[in-house]
Amino acid sequence: MSKRLLLIEDELGLELTLTDRLTSEGYLVEIARDGDIGFKRASTENLDLIILDVMLPKKNGFDICRDLRQKGVTIPIIMLTARGQVIDKVLGLKLGADDYLTKPFEMMELLARVEALLRRAPSTETLSADIYQFGTIRVNFRSAEITKNNQVIELSAKEFKLLRHLIERRGNILSRDDLLDEVWGYNAMLSTRTVDVHVAWLRQKLEPNPKHPQYILTVHGLGYKFIG
Ligand code: CA
Repeated sequence: MSKRLLLIEDELGLELTLTDRLTSEGYLVEIARDGDIGFKRASTENLDLIILDVMLPKKNGFDICRDLRQKGVTIPIIMLTARGQVIDKVLGLKLGADDYLTKPFEMMELLARVEALLRRAPSTETLSADIYQFGTIRVNFRSAEITKNNQVIELSAKEFKLLRHLIERRGNILSRDDLLDEVWGYNAMLSTRTVDVHVAWLRQKLEPNPKHPQYILTVHGLGYKFIG
C-alpha cells in the first residue's frame, strides 16, 4: 500500500518539484500551503510522514512540530530548514522532529531520508495496539511502562489497571461501582472511596495540574470520564 506523505510548504516551485518526484516514487502526496491548514491536517489525518517547512504563513514549522508532539501525534517529521541556520536544526530536533534537511537539498537526499524514516517508524497498527499517547504521556500496554516527558512514571498494578480501563473506555462515563468491579473485582470488599483515592493518585502522577484535571475528569453524581 502506498505511504501517505503530507508536504507542508508554501513555496510553489519546491512544492511542485517535490510532489512530482515523490509521486513518481510511488508515494501519495498531500499538500498544505500554510501552517494552520498543515497543522490541522497533520493532527487529524492518517499519515505516514510529514515534510515540514520552517518558514510558513500563519503558523511556523517549529510551532507545528511542538504542538503535534504535545497532542501525542507521533508521525515522523522531516523539517526543511533555511541554509546555515544551525539553531534551526537543533531547535527542530528538540521540538520533536525526526530529521531535517537544509535548503537547497538534493532530491536523492530527501528520498533517502524519507525511506529511512518510513522503515524506522512502527506501523500505525502496532502503535494503536500497544502504545497509547496523550499529552506528553506515553503508555506502553505491552511492557506496562509509562513515561511523562520521556521520564518513567511508577504506577502500582492497580493504578495501571485503572488507567488502562479508563483509556480503553475513553469518552464514556464510568461509575465508581463499575470501576470497582472492573478493576478490583466483584468480590472485593471495598468501598467506592477506593476508586476515588486511586483516581487522585493517578491525577497526581499524570495530570499537568492535578487540581484541574484535563484527562481524568469527574462527572458529578455519575463517576469519571477519561479524555485524551
Ligand atoms: Ca517557506
